[in-house]
Amino acid sequence: MIRSLFLFALIAAAVFAAVTLADNPGRVSVDWRGWRIDMSTGVLVLLVWGAIRRAPGRFLDMRRGSRRDRGYKALTQGMVAVAAGDVGEARRWARKADALLDDPPLTMLLSAQAAQLGGEEAAARRYFEAMLDHPDTAFLGLRGLLMQSIKAGDKVEALRLAERAYKLRPETGWVVDQLFELQVESGLWSEANELIASAIRRKTLPAAGARSRRAAVLVEHSRAAEAEGDADTAFARAGEAHNLDPTLVPATLALARLYKARDRAAKAERLIEEAWARAPNPELATMYGKVISATEPLARVKRFQRLFSFRPDHPESHIALAEAALAARLWGEARKHLNAAAGQSPTARVCRLMAELEESENGDMESSRKWLARATTAAPDEAWVCNDCGAVAGAWTALCGNCASFGSLAWQAPPRAVRLTAPGAVARSRTAALPAKAKSGASAPARKNTG
Ligand SMILES: [Zn+2]
Repeated sequence: MIRSLFLFALIAAAVFAAVTLADNPGRVSVDWRGWRIDMSTGVLVLLVWGAIRRAPGRFLDMRRGSRRDRGYKALTQGMVAVAAGDVGEARRWARKADALLDDPPLTMLLSAQAAQLGGEEAAARRYFEAMLDHPDTAFLGLRGLLMQSIKAGDKVEALRLAERAYKLRPETGWVVDQLFELQVESGLWSEANELIASAIRRKTLPAAGARSRRAAVLVEHSRAAEAEGDADTAFARAGEAHNLDPTLVPATLALARLYKARDRAAKAERLIEEAWARAPNPELATMYGKVISATEPLARVKRFQRLFSFRPDHPESHIALAEAALAARLWGEARKHLNAAAGQSPTARVCRLMAELEESENGDMESSRKWLARATTAAPDEAWVCNDCGAVAGAWTALCGNCASFGSLAWQAPPRAVRLTAPGAVARSRTAALPAKAKSGASAPARKNTG
């Protein structure tokens, strides 16, 4: 009995290894006494199998000849063949195991994998579907079907299967990731929010990263609710997003705008001032200009002097105040702050504001043109740049408009010479993406894991 259990444990380990390796082909390096051996994982499996086969030699000798033993051996050989990518061998062992073993769940997985290896997706599908009937293999069958529908681009079916897999095993990391990805791609923000919230409760996802993921989902949920005319939900979701991640600028912007819409301008102003104290950002300055009640230019300069006071050290503070001063025709004030923002190498935006100042104050078209020319070669200003594909977005969205990565946009200096992508225009071509990688230190985006 114990021997049977031992043999079964070995088989289970081999099956698990084969499935894992078939899903994640790769290479393994072994360092041993100054030797370094590189091999593919398939070869490693063969070596490990060889070792397993020899180690309990006596035990296997005793069992040799038993039909069941030969069945398990055929099964394991088949799994090894799958891992090694040998279609013919995989099929041969699958048939043999099927004939020798009275254990459909185990042989079905091998048969499905052998069929998939041979490109027979329809046959593999039939095996995966049959696996759904056995409690032991239902989850693996679902996984097989889910991967098939993702490969086929059938998002509706994939979502249905991922939801089913999640009901079966809500604590499995890849199920949560896969379901989340399918939900956000379908704009199911409310569902995605609940999924992440329960993943945090179950500790399936690390809380820190999951909170910012949730905040991004909530901003999109707020936007969708607002588009549908549901102002209360829009307001509530924006508030939750801001509380979860106070550094998420789009959440602050949405909440400030919605406070203003509810005649609570003072609250909106305070939100932006707090965000400014943490990290000044030109989008916050633009929103500040919209929520403050002052309309007269000089009064507006006073308000921007207040915003300035929260971070008098920061170039964005100088630029925001310079723009207000330009509008109020306070040329000296504008020049002082533009010079302070410019430093040694003014960015394109500072150059354009300088050009505006030269033209407005002195009618100096010559100097204005020089600044405009300088703007074309100046360092680019910070923007929403995708950490995954390097595309620059005109506005923040939870999904990159170019590569559809979730949570990959970060406020940072773009790589030189990039094209702008229209927000919302999702093109999934990764080959068209720019190769530029984001600078280090930027927050790591939630990555896809399609297995
Ligand atoms: Zn991207």
